[in-house]
Amino acid sequence: MGRVSGKVALISGAARGMGAEHARLLVQEGAKVVIGDLLEAEGAALVEELGAENAAFVRLDVTDYGQWETAVQVAVDTFGRLDVLVNNAGIANFALIEDYTLEQWRQIIDINLNGVFYGLKAAIPALKESGAASVINISSTAGLKGVPALPGYTAAKFGVRGLSKEAALDLGRYNIRVNSVHPGNIRTPMTDGLGVDQSRVALGRMGESLELSNLILFLASDESSFSTGAEFVADGGETAGLAAPVE
Ligand code: NAP
Repeated sequence: MGRVSGKVALISGAARGMGAEHARLLVQEGAKVVIGDLLEAEGAALVEELGAENAAFVRLDVTDYGQWETAVQVAVDTFGRLDVLVNNAGIANFALIEDYTLEQWRQIIDINLNGVFYGLKAAIPALKESGAASVINISSTAGLKGVPALPGYTAAKFGVRGLSKEAALDLGRYNIRVNSVHPGNIRTPMTDGLGVDQSRVALGRMGESLELSNLILFLASDESSFSTGAEFVADGGETAGLAAPVE
Protein backbone atom coordinates (compact mmCIF):
# COMPACT_ATOMS: atom_id res chain seq x y z
CA MET A 1 0.00 0.00 0.00
CA GLY A 2 1.45 3.37 -0.99
CA ARG A 3 1.01 6.43 1.19
CA VAL A 4 -1.47 7.98 -1.30
CA SER A 5 -2.97 4.82 -2.81
CA GLY A 6 -6.43 5.42 -4.29
CA LYS A 7 -5.97 9.19 -4.48
CA VAL A 8 -6.10 11.27 -7.65
CA ALA A 9 -4.02 14.44 -7.88
CA LEU A 10 -3.98 17.38 -10.30
CA ILE A 11 -0.71 19.32 -10.38
CA SER A 12 -0.32 22.56 -12.34
CA GLY A 13 3.01 23.37 -13.98
CA ALA A 14 4.03 19.73 -13.57
CA ALA A 15 5.77 19.10 -16.90
CA ARG A 16 9.16 20.04 -15.42
CA GLY A 17 10.86 21.33 -12.30
CA MET A 18 9.45 20.63 -8.86
CA GLY A 19 5.96 19.81 -10.17
CA ALA A 20 7.33 16.91 -12.24
CA GLU A 21 9.17 15.52 -9.21
CA HIS A 22 5.96 15.77 -7.14
CA ALA A 23 4.15 13.79 -9.86
CA ARG A 24 6.83 11.07 -9.81
CA LEU A 25 6.72 10.64 -6.03
CA LEU A 26 2.91 10.66 -5.80
CA VAL A 27 2.70 7.97 -8.50
CA GLN A 28 5.43 5.95 -6.75
CA GLU A 29 3.27 6.08 -3.61
CA GLY A 30 0.14 4.84 -5.37
CA ALA A 31 -1.67 7.96 -6.65
CA LYS A 32 -2.95 8.72 -10.14
CA VAL A 33 -1.77 12.10 -11.38
CA VAL A 34 -2.99 14.63 -13.93
CA ILE A 35 -0.19 16.85 -15.17
CA GLY A 36 -1.37 20.30 -16.25
CA ASP A 37 1.09 22.55 -18.07
CA LEU A 38 1.72 24.69 -21.14
CA LEU A 39 4.69 22.52 -22.09
CA GLU A 40 3.04 19.77 -24.16
CA ALA A 41 6.16 17.83 -25.25
CA GLU A 42 7.59 17.68 -21.72
CA GLY A 43 4.16 16.74 -20.32
CA ALA A 44 3.72 13.91 -22.84
CA ALA A 45 7.23 12.61 -22.04
CA LEU A 46 6.43 12.55 -18.33
CA VAL A 47 3.21 10.59 -18.95
CA GLU A 48 5.23 8.08 -20.96
CA GLU A 49 7.74 7.77 -18.11
CA LEU A 50 5.00 7.29 -15.47
CA GLY A 51 2.71 5.09 -17.60
CA ALA A 52 -0.67 6.05 -19.06
CA GLU A 53 -2.40 3.93 -16.37
CA ASN A 54 -0.92 6.29 -13.72
CA ALA A 55 -0.75 9.69 -15.37
CA ALA A 56 -2.47 11.91 -17.91
CA PHE A 57 -1.48 15.25 -19.43
CA VAL A 58 -3.80 18.18 -20.02
CA ARG A 59 -2.77 21.48 -21.59
CA LEU A 60 -3.41 24.02 -18.85
CA ASP A 61 -2.80 27.75 -18.85
CA VAL A 62 -3.56 28.58 -15.22
CA THR A 63 -4.72 32.09 -16.18
CA ASP A 64 -7.64 30.62 -18.15
CA TYR A 65 -10.51 29.53 -15.88
CA GLY A 66 -12.12 27.43 -18.63
CA GLN A 67 -8.93 25.38 -18.99
CA TRP A 68 -8.99 24.71 -15.24
CA GLU A 69 -12.56 23.39 -15.54
CA THR A 70 -11.38 21.11 -18.35
CA ALA A 71 -8.40 19.89 -16.29
CA VAL A 72 -10.63 18.95 -13.36
CA GLN A 73 -12.96 17.13 -15.77
CA VAL A 74 -10.00 15.22 -17.23
CA ALA A 75 -9.08 14.01 -13.73
CA VAL A 76 -12.64 12.86 -13.01
CA ASP A 77 -13.19 11.31 -16.47
CA THR A 78 -9.80 9.55 -16.58
CA PHE A 79 -9.33 8.41 -12.99
CA GLY A 80 -12.82 8.75 -11.47
CA ARG A 81 -12.27 11.41 -8.81
CA LEU A 82 -10.10 14.28 -7.54
CA ASP A 83 -8.59 14.30 -4.04
CA VAL A 84 -5.48 16.46 -4.28
CA LEU A 85 -4.81 19.77 -6.03
CA VAL A 86 -1.25 21.10 -6.13
CA ASN A 87 -1.20 24.72 -7.33
CA ASN A 88 2.43 24.66 -8.41
CA ALA A 89 2.69 26.61 -11.69
CA GLY A 90 4.52 29.87 -11.35
CA ILE A 91 7.00 32.27 -12.90
CA ALA A 92 9.49 34.77 -11.54
CA ASN A 93 10.31 38.20 -13.01
CA PHE A 94 12.92 40.55 -11.65
CA ALA A 95 13.44 44.33 -11.35
CA LEU A 96 13.77 46.91 -8.61
CA ILE A 97 10.30 48.28 -7.88
CA GLU A 98 11.06 51.66 -9.47
CA ASP A 99 11.89 49.90 -12.76
CA TYR A 100 9.23 47.17 -12.52
CA THR A 101 6.74 47.54 -15.38
CA LEU A 102 2.95 47.35 -15.20
CA GLU A 103 3.16 44.49 -17.68
CA GLN A 104 5.51 42.52 -15.38
CA TRP A 105 3.13 43.14 -12.47
CA ARG A 106 -0.01 42.11 -14.38
CA GLN A 107 1.62 38.98 -15.80
CA ILE A 108 2.89 37.64 -12.49
CA ILE A 109 -0.27 38.42 -10.52
CA ASP A 110 -2.26 36.68 -13.25
CA ILE A 111 -0.17 33.48 -13.18
CA ASN A 112 1.04 33.26 -9.57
CA LEU A 113 -2.06 34.54 -7.73
CA ASN A 114 -5.12 34.55 -10.02
CA GLY A 115 -4.04 31.12 -11.31
CA VAL A 116 -4.12 29.69 -7.79
CA PHE A 117 -7.58 31.11 -7.07
CA TYR A 118 -8.93 29.82 -10.40
CA GLY A 119 -7.56 26.33 -9.74
CA LEU A 120 -8.98 26.19 -6.26
CA LYS A 121 -12.38 27.47 -7.36
CA ALA A 122 -12.66 25.11 -10.33
CA ALA A 123 -11.70 22.10 -8.21
CA ILE A 124 -14.04 22.67 -5.26
CA PRO A 125 -17.03 20.66 -6.59
CA ALA A 126 -14.84 17.58 -7.29
CA LEU A 127 -12.90 17.98 -4.03
CA LYS A 128 -16.17 18.06 -2.06
CA GLU A 129 -16.96 14.62 -3.50
CA SER A 130 -13.61 13.29 -2.24
CA GLY A 131 -14.51 13.36 1.45
CA ALA A 132 -10.83 13.83 2.40
CA ALA A 133 -9.23 16.34 0.08
CA SER A 134 -6.02 18.33 0.21
CA VAL A 135 -5.14 21.54 -1.60
CA ILE A 136 -1.44 22.41 -1.57
CA ASN A 137 -0.65 25.94 -2.69
CA ILE A 138 2.99 26.57 -3.55
CA SER A 139 4.06 29.90 -2.13
CA SER A 140 7.72 30.66 -1.31
CA THR A 141 9.95 32.11 1.37
CA ALA A 142 9.01 35.26 -0.59
CA GLY A 143 5.53 34.72 0.88
CA LEU A 144 6.98 35.06 4.38
CA LYS A 145 9.47 37.94 4.00
CA GLY A 146 10.33 40.66 1.51
CA VAL A 147 12.79 39.75 -1.23
CA PRO A 148 14.54 42.56 -3.16
CA ALA A 149 13.91 43.06 -6.89
CA LEU A 150 10.91 40.69 -6.84
CA PRO A 151 7.94 43.00 -6.18
CA GLY A 152 5.25 41.09 -8.05
CA TYR A 153 6.52 37.67 -7.01
CA THR A 154 6.65 38.67 -3.34
CA ALA A 155 3.16 40.20 -3.45
CA ALA A 156 1.68 37.18 -5.23
CA LYS A 157 3.30 34.67 -2.87
CA PHE A 158 2.04 36.58 0.21
CA GLY A 159 -1.37 36.50 -1.50
CA VAL A 160 -1.20 32.73 -1.96
CA ARG A 161 -0.42 32.34 1.75
CA GLY A 162 -3.41 34.48 2.74
CA LEU A 163 -5.79 32.86 0.28
CA SER A 164 -4.80 29.44 1.64
CA LYS A 165 -5.82 30.42 5.16
CA GLU A 166 -9.14 31.90 4.01
CA ALA A 167 -9.96 28.83 1.91
CA ALA A 168 -9.07 26.54 4.82
CA LEU A 169 -11.69 28.29 6.93
CA ASP A 170 -14.40 28.04 4.28
CA LEU A 171 -13.70 24.46 3.15
CA GLY A 172 -12.99 22.69 6.44
CA ARG A 173 -16.69 21.79 6.65
CA TYR A 174 -16.16 19.50 3.62
CA ASN A 175 -12.92 18.02 5.02
CA ILE A 176 -11.02 19.87 2.30
CA ARG A 177 -7.69 20.92 3.83
CA VAL A 178 -5.76 23.86 2.37
CA ASN A 179 -2.13 24.58 3.22
CA SER A 180 0.67 26.70 1.80
CA VAL A 181 4.19 25.44 1.12
CA HIS A 182 7.18 27.77 1.27
CA PRO A 183 10.29 26.51 -0.52
CA GLY A 184 13.61 28.28 -0.25
CA ASN A 185 16.01 28.24 -3.20
CA ILE A 186 15.57 24.93 -5.02
CA ARG A 187 17.59 23.71 -8.00
CA THR A 188 15.09 23.80 -10.93
CA PRO A 189 14.91 25.41 -14.38
CA MET A 190 13.51 28.53 -12.63
CA THR A 191 16.74 29.10 -10.69
CA ASP A 192 19.13 27.92 -13.44
CA GLY A 193 21.82 30.50 -14.04
CA LEU A 194 20.69 32.86 -11.26
CA GLY A 195 23.90 32.35 -9.28
CA VAL A 196 22.03 32.00 -5.99
CA ASP A 197 24.28 32.57 -2.95
CA GLN A 198 23.34 30.23 -0.06
CA SER A 199 26.48 30.87 1.98
CA ARG A 200 24.56 32.65 4.77
CA VAL A 201 21.71 30.07 4.83
CA ALA A 202 22.01 27.56 7.69
CA LEU A 203 22.39 24.45 5.50
CA GLY A 204 24.66 26.33 3.07
CA ARG A 205 23.27 24.80 -0.14
CA MET A 206 20.28 24.91 -2.47
CA GLY A 207 17.50 22.37 -2.05
CA GLU A 208 16.63 19.56 -4.46
CA SER A 209 13.10 19.08 -5.84
CA LEU A 210 12.68 15.76 -4.06
CA GLU A 211 13.17 17.50 -0.71
CA LEU A 212 9.98 19.42 -1.47
CA SER A 213 8.21 16.41 -2.97
CA ASN A 214 8.50 14.60 0.35
CA LEU A 215 6.59 17.45 1.98
CA ILE A 216 3.99 17.44 -0.81
CA LEU A 217 3.52 13.70 -0.29
CA PHE A 218 2.89 14.22 3.43
CA LEU A 219 0.34 16.98 2.76
CA ALA A 220 -1.38 14.97 0.01
CA SER A 221 -1.71 11.92 2.25
CA ASP A 222 -4.02 11.36 5.18
CA GLU A 223 -0.94 11.51 7.44
CA SER A 224 -1.52 15.28 7.55
CA SER A 225 -5.24 14.91 8.33
CA PHE A 226 -5.28 17.55 11.12
CA SER A 227 -3.24 20.18 9.24
CA THR A 228 -5.09 22.96 7.47
CA GLY A 229 -4.59 26.69 7.02
CA ALA A 230 -0.94 26.20 7.93
CA GLU A 231 2.43 27.16 6.46
CA PHE A 232 4.98 24.43 5.70
CA VAL A 233 8.51 25.72 5.19
CA ALA A 234 11.38 23.81 3.54
CA ASP A 235 14.11 26.42 3.07
CA GLY A 236 17.36 25.09 4.51
CA GLY A 237 16.99 27.60 7.34
CA GLU A 238 16.70 30.73 5.14
CA THR A 239 13.88 32.30 7.15
CA ALA A 240 15.53 31.48 10.51
CA GLY A 241 18.02 34.31 9.94
CA LEU A 242 21.54 34.80 8.65
CA ALA A 243 24.04 32.10 9.54
CA ALA A 244 27.59 33.18 10.39
CA PRO A 245 29.99 32.94 7.43
CA VAL A 246 31.87 29.63 7.38
CA GLU A 247 35.64 30.27 7.53
P1 NAP B 1 9.77 25.77 -13.15
O1 NAP B 1 10.80 24.69 -13.32
O2 NAP B 1 9.89 27.00 -14.00
O3 NAP B 1 8.36 25.09 -13.33
C1 NAP B 1 7.19 25.84 -13.34
C2 NAP B 1 6.28 25.28 -14.37
O4 NAP B 1 5.09 26.08 -14.43
C3 NAP B 1 6.89 25.29 -15.79
O5 NAP B 1 6.67 24.06 -16.43
C4 NAP B 1 6.15 26.43 -16.44
O6 NAP B 1 6.07 26.33 -17.84
C5 NAP B 1 4.79 26.31 -15.79
N1 NAP B 1 3.97 27.48 -16.03
C6 NAP B 1 4.35 28.79 -16.12
N2 NAP B 1 3.32 29.56 -16.42
C7 NAP B 1 2.25 28.73 -16.53
C8 NAP B 1 0.88 28.93 -16.83
N3 NAP B 1 0.39 30.15 -17.12
N4 NAP B 1 0.06 27.87 -16.85
C9 NAP B 1 0.54 26.63 -16.59
N5 NAP B 1 1.82 26.37 -16.31
C10 NAP B 1 2.66 27.42 -16.28
O7 NAP B 1 9.73 26.28 -11.65
P2 NAP B 1 9.90 25.55 -10.24
O8 NAP B 1 11.14 26.09 -9.63
O9 NAP B 1 9.68 24.10 -10.34
O10 NAP B 1 8.70 26.25 -9.46
C11 NAP B 1 7.50 25.60 -9.09
C12 NAP B 1 6.78 26.47 -8.07
O11 NAP B 1 7.63 26.62 -6.91
C13 NAP B 1 6.49 27.89 -8.56
O12 NAP B 1 5.23 28.32 -8.06
C14 NAP B 1 7.59 28.72 -7.93
O13 NAP B 1 7.24 30.07 -7.75
C15 NAP B 1 7.76 27.99 -6.60
N6 NAP B 1 9.04 28.22 -5.95
C16 NAP B 1 10.22 27.89 -6.58
C17 NAP B 1 11.42 28.09 -5.92
C18 NAP B 1 12.75 27.71 -6.52
O14 NAP B 1 13.79 28.05 -5.93
N7 NAP B 1 12.80 27.01 -7.63
C19 NAP B 1 11.42 28.67 -4.64
C20 NAP B 1 10.21 29.00 -4.04
C21 NAP B 1 9.02 28.76 -4.71
P3 NAP B 1 6.80 27.43 -18.81
O15 NAP B 1 8.19 26.98 -18.95
O16 NAP B 1 6.01 27.38 -20.07
O17 NAP B 1 6.75 28.77 -18.15
